[in-house]
Amino acid sequence: MGKVTGFLEYERTAPVKQDAKERLEHYNEFVVSFEQDQVKQEAARCMDCGVPFCQSGCPLGNVIPEFNEAVYKAEWEIAANILLSTNNFPEFTGRICPAPCESACVLGINKSPVSIEDIEKHIIEIAFSKGYIKAEPPLIRSGKKVAVIGSGPAGLAAAAQLNKAGHEVVVYERDDTPGGLLNYGIPDFKLQKDVVSRRISLMEKEGIEFKCNSNVGVNVELNTLLREYQSIVLAGGSTIPRDLNVTGRSARGIHYAMDFLKQQNKRVRNFSIDQEPILANGKDVIVIGGGDTGSDCIGTSNRQGARSVTQFEIMPMPAQQRTANMPWPTYPMLLKVTSSHEEGCSRAWGVNTKEFIADENGALKALKVVDVEWEIDGAGRPVNFKEIEGTTRELPCQLVLLAMGFLYPQKEGLLEKLGVELDGRGNVKAEEGKYQTNIAKVFVAGDMRRGQSLVVWAISEGREAARKVDEYLMGSSKLATKDGIP
Ligand code: FAD
Repeated sequence: MGKVTGFLEYERTAPVKQDAKERLEHYNEFVVSFEQDQVKQEAARCMDCGVPFCQSGCPLGNVIPEFNEAVYKAEWEIAANILLSTNNFPEFTGRICPAPCESACVLGINKSPVSIEDIEKHIIEIAFSKGYIKAEPPLIRSGKKVAVIGSGPAGLAAAAQLNKAGHEVVVYERDDTPGGLLNYGIPDFKLQKDVVSRRISLMEKEGIEFKCNSNVGVNVELNTLLREYQSIVLAGGSTIPRDLNVTGRSARGIHYAMDFLKQQNKRVRNFSIDQEPILANGKDVIVIGGGDTGSDCIGTSNRQGARSVTQFEIMPMPAQQRTANMPWPTYPMLLKVTSSHEEGCSRAWGVNTKEFIADENGALKALKVVDVEWEIDGAGRPVNFKEIEGTTRELPCQLVLLAMGFLYPQKEGLLEKLGVELDGRGNVKAEEGKYQTNIAKVFVAGDMRRGQSLVVWAISEGREAARKVDEYLMGSSKLATKDGIP
């Protein structure tokens, strides 16, 4: 524990953000780093609880009290080593994780939790700037080859760990650049792409090969991979978006969020865009869906110069769902005010879309919506809704972005040809903790197994799956897991 009385003396501080108006002028990150004294003070607020709930709240099992103590003592290399012992990519989670560790921080019972996520980002950026982060290729190679399919956080974490264990790792990515949703989903204002490419080039120096424009099962023969590699890790993500099949769906101006966001991520990097441009400038934009993807559409629409931005969520406002008196601090996703919300949009919960209305040329001109009332069951879960009479209305809009989540991974190509077993939700079947599919040499990690989730979970699954692959190939493994083995 850095300072015994820290939690009594200091209130939570966080790095300042550039003013909302100013940051709308660009697509770069806008959070200014902690001052040195400020981060020390924030780390001093950690109570070093006997049972560190923050640590079990973190899907990676990050050893938070220990790195907080090192930060308080300004022992940056030690702090970085503690952080990297459980998390391959703190520079990603330190920027975009919803920080379940902070929801679990005991200080949060009657004060604001420690700003763990910001501390994490500070540690890793200091470590990069001081040159502590260097390529560390394995000293001995095992002679085994593993193919990782998909280069999102799950695939990257699996590749990093398998390479560390000495296996020859090749990552296949169907896009033109590695990174998965870190690259082509999450906007630059949350995670600049130089942060992603910095890590990829480090991994290349460590001996990992990335093969882009390689769509396994489409332009890369699956049978060749099955023949050439002793094991395969599937990390293709959950990519099929939920649709909204109501009257008027074919109107021009209705797009999936990912098509819109991917184009803008490409535009920021001056990459060419093959499809018809989807742009929000001068338009009334309605975002349907209240999660992270929806927020990213809001921030992007505002930066593109939308005339107005409105977000609708069909689910009730989370407070309505609460029945029990809950003392533990929670951060319900749907109630979260993201930086994109701060930048301006109107927002409503319990709103259902009834119809898309097009003009005589087939272009979207309005959205017909209605307010709904939810029936909440005994456990506080919303189960059924009914329309509230007299609330049907039409709202002018020229662009609708569908951000209602993802259903499951794509079946055509890779999964169909592989004949891998799926679970009841359409994801690739493998037990949590085992990660092995019905095909013995094929493992799966991340959104492709657990359904749409979070970056921190993808990294955690990639790491855990890598250990299982290592055990499969070598009979045992020295790779660390979140439970601290070995
Ligand atoms: P992905 O990141 O989806 O990567 C899968 C990769 O596999 C893709 O690059 C894909 O092209 C490739 N692939 C698929 N099939 C093949 C094939 N046959 N051959 C070769 N390559 C293939 N989480 C957070 O924690 N914080 C956030 O702020 C956040 N914001 C988000 C914003 C958006 C817009 C979206 C869509 C998601 C967001 N998430 C966020 C969720 C998070 O990004 C995902 O949970 C995470 O990226 C999943 O990682 P993954 O590696 O399993 O899959």
